Amino acid sequence: EPLQADVVIVGAGLFGLVTAQQIIEHTDKTVHIIDIREHIGGNAYSYFDEETGAEIHKYGAHLFHTSNERVWDYVNRFTKFTNYVHRVYTTHKNEVFPMPVNLGTINQFFHASYTPAEAQKLIEEQAGEFAHVDPQNLDEQGKKLIGEPLYNAFIRNYTGKQWQTDPSELPASIIRRLPVRFNYDNRYFKDTWEGLPADGYTAWFERMIDDPRITVTLGVDFFDESQPYNKKALVGTVPVIYTGPVDKYFGYELGELKWRTVDFTEKRYDEADHFGVPVMNYADSDVPYTRAIEFKNFNPERREKQNPHKTVVWEEYSRFANRDDEPYYPINTEADKKLYAQYKAKAEDEPSVIFGGRLGTYAYYDMHQVINSALIAYEKQVAPLVA
Ligand code: FAD
Ligand code: UDP
Repeated sequence: EPLQADVVIVGAGLFGLVTAQQIIEHTDKTVHIIDIREHIGGNAYSYFDEETGAEIHKYGAHLFHTSNERVWDYVNRFTKFTNYVHRVYTTHKNEVFPMPVNLGTINQFFHASYTPAEAQKLIEEQAGEFAHVDPQNLDEQGKKLIGEPLYNAFIRNYTGKQWQTDPSELPASIIRRLPVRFNYDNRYFKDTWEGLPADGYTAWFERMIDDPRITVTLGVDFFDESQPYNKKALVGTVPVIYTGPVDKYFGYELGELKWRTVDFTEKRYDEADHFGVPVMNYADSDVPYTRAIEFKNFNPERREKQNPHKTVVWEEYSRFANRDDEPYYPINTEADKKLYAQYKAKAEDEPSVIFGGRLGTYAYYDMHQVINSALIAYEKQVAPLVA
């Protein structure tokens, strides 16, 4: 028997959790959340590893960062954040360099002691013909930003492993996410606030929905008509917030939107610390994975509770996703964009269903962006439908 709830949310990821929390805060309605997975939190879910004490981010490393004050105030209602600042190193030809490219990277690479102005002049020379073009793709953008030698060393092969697509066919925006700095600041993000949830992602998410008016059923598929919370039974009878894949909702009738996925290989070492940093990128093509994550090192403040003799590392392999894989990064070719526009039009016609989140809107969102979009969706779409 289905629970009697005023609203059903498909997906216990951040979009679903934020909208549930907002409904409870602003109305007297009840909410039921379902998820096909056995846990809440969507892709930001994490668990504690018994052997090492590391907090493992099950779907890949998640670092919280934002410059949006409303989002920062909102998340701080449910969790404290550590003072973690994200820094990444990259291995190239058996040598370790700081990433993103900064004056430290440049001087180490050229065995030099350039000042900021000297380095800037050098990079402009090395950008050559690309220095003054309006970059049309990742290849041109990369060469323009850091010149050809650094681009070839740190970007070309890494991007090849990550996207399996020629950089000249990838959008320039992918690489504009990374800062380039002519000083020694090697912070990975440019945002005002960053940190990791003090007692882990899952504890944060549990507090967001800790209310008797929110109920959750895990391990159920919205498209499985043998269970009560299915599309056929619910759509048209109760407001639904759907955060699964938009093409799947419509039975892929117009075609499939394309995604990339990541496979992880776990390694365990009888050491306190394997890399000395949480993230080591591999810039060269002889190492088949893009990067390796040493989870213990995200939380140095937990050293006392971690095993001093063991550590766990996940190596990341990137590839195109098939329909049964976890969709992680929207590829967003022109064909994908056109197809999504068609699905979006259909979604707008669907009676009392709101599509949200990265799968429901085919968008690459960081956590702070999905939280922001859910707060806005609550005001503009959810409140008028449910209140
Ligand atoms: P999701 O978290 O995907 O939630 C959707 C939920 O819907 C899932 O739990 C899914 O199981 C469920 N669902 C789907 N179909 C069905 C169905 N048929 N029936 C029932 N349930 C269903 N963001 C950052 O801010 N910092 C980072 O460092 C960062 N790193 C990332 C690294 C990787 C590898 C990836 C993939 C993402 C990363 N992100 C990061 C982005 C972050 O994961 C997302 O912004 C956020 O999790 C999106 O939330 P969501 O609710 O939109 O989607
Ligand atoms: N990138 C690279 N070398 C690196 C790190 C990043 O070439 O050492 C490029 C790569 O194309 C990647 C993009 O920069 O897709 C964005 O990097 P980011 O770390 O933001 O990727 P994500 O977190 O999405 O995996």
